[in-house]
Amino acid sequence: MKKTGLVAASAFCGSLVAQTADRPNIVYVFPDQLRNHALEFWNDDAFSTYVRFKADPVHTPVLNRFARESAVLSSAHSNCPLSSPHRGMMLTGMYPDGSGVSLNCNATRPISNLRQDAVAISDVFSAQGYDCAYIGKLHVDYPTPNNPQKPGTYVSDRDPEWDAYTPKERRHGFNFWYSYGTFDEHKRPHYWDTDGNRHEIREWSPKHEADVAIEYLRNKRDKSKPFFMVVSMNPPHSPYYSLDDVEERDYNRYKDVPLHELLIRPNVKASLAKKQSSAPYYFASVTGVDREFGRILEALKEQGLDENTIVVFTSDHGETMASHLEDPKNSPYAESFNVPFLIRYPGKLKPHVNPVLLSTPDIMPTLLSLAGLKSHIPSSVQGNDLTRALVKGRPVKGSPKGVLYIRNVDGEKDAEGKVRSYFPVARGVKTERYTLAITLTRTHAIKEILLFDDVTDPYQMHNITDKKLIRRLAGQMKPLLIKADDPWIKNGIYEKVMAQLN
Ligand code: CA
Repeated sequence: MKKTGLVAASAFCGSLVAQTADRPNIVYVFPDQLRNHALEFWNDDAFSTYVRFKADPVHTPVLNRFARESAVLSSAHSNCPLSSPHRGMMLTGMYPDGSGVSLNCNATRPISNLRQDAVAISDVFSAQGYDCAYIGKLHVDYPTPNNPQKPGTYVSDRDPEWDAYTPKERRHGFNFWYSYGTFDEHKRPHYWDTDGNRHEIREWSPKHEADVAIEYLRNKRDKSKPFFMVVSMNPPHSPYYSLDDVEERDYNRYKDVPLHELLIRPNVKASLAKKQSSAPYYFASVTGVDREFGRILEALKEQGLDENTIVVFTSDHGETMASHLEDPKNSPYAESFNVPFLIRYPGKLKPHVNPVLLSTPDIMPTLLSLAGLKSHIPSSVQGNDLTRALVKGRPVKGSPKGVLYIRNVDGEKDAEGKVRSYFPVARGVKTERYTLAITLTRTHAIKEILLFDDVTDPYQMHNITDKKLIRRLAGQMKPLLIKADDPWIKNGIYEKVMAQLN
């Protein structure tokens, strides 16, 4: 019996090797808080007709070239445009209620924690014979006292603790690890490696992470397998106010440019003066990220891997950068909600601009499908496989008609002040033409409605109050809420909202 088992196992391994030999590799790079508007190529003639905004005056030479080799999505959205919820959706293909990551993770919020039993994209790639690497910011774990260097303590002493160590059993198939939870000192980053050893670094984090990624490509991966490598850079996330935050050579490019030449949009608010002053640093961060992304692309080419590797460049949400609100993210405004999404797959995806509406949970099924693993997309996935639209170069029959907007806040707290539930304070929908967001009070009364015509008003300066249109769009939101198994449906909130709109 034992012998038969061995034969069967080796036959299985043999077929897996044969199957995986020509599978594409995947490189997934996503800096934090990089607005779609801060990509220079949108001002080029080949791209400018596909969007209605003017690109920021930012220098992104690598991404300009990469865009000409890629499918560039003009309408990719981060459904819950906040760090942890986005990452939970990206990793599991589920909306926040399903992924377990409903709020930004910190030690006051045990309610928000990536479900250990969820099947993540990396679990699938790993099970299908991929070497899986995670480099950089993770931010999906509820911080607990599990510092590997000082067992029983937290890894930071900020109150509440935000940073977290991710033990092996919570790494979802990633076998190469060089990561942390969340930490915002860009020139003093730290990481825990595969074995739990902490590394204190004294250089700009995207540069260091590109070095680690390049070393992984050259020497650290299992070269008998295809690989899935995620690089999650923190800049251009705040802070962005000094040379502690950016590389001086990048800052020098913007430091003498008058602010009104950097902030060219009509929706920039005079009242947000401090935020405006961050613009040269923000753009310097973007330019630095562009360069480090370019170094990873060069290493892929040097290793002869560029032709058979799917490369994605995106972000976890945008950055309002002195328009609308002080808050850079977590709002339905396009500058927070719309994200870059460029995907290069030589010979398989022709370079083009595609207006297909992408939601974050669509990323996992689409990447698995492009890698030939469509039959391995778990049934838990709530997103759509957009491969057909990417191959066709345009939305096709069955492509999404809307993107769900989600905002959650803390719900009930226990005696210790720990958050035990979340409140789904706002929901909305982005269609090809409109953005709608409905915000509630704690008793489910409508508190605010935002509605913009993104065709005639791309900077979202005129709130529409047309009740008939609001009702129609709220109706379009319903199937998206159902697909997301959202509390607005499960708890009867949607019906209460509709009753107020009638
Ligand atoms: Ca973020």
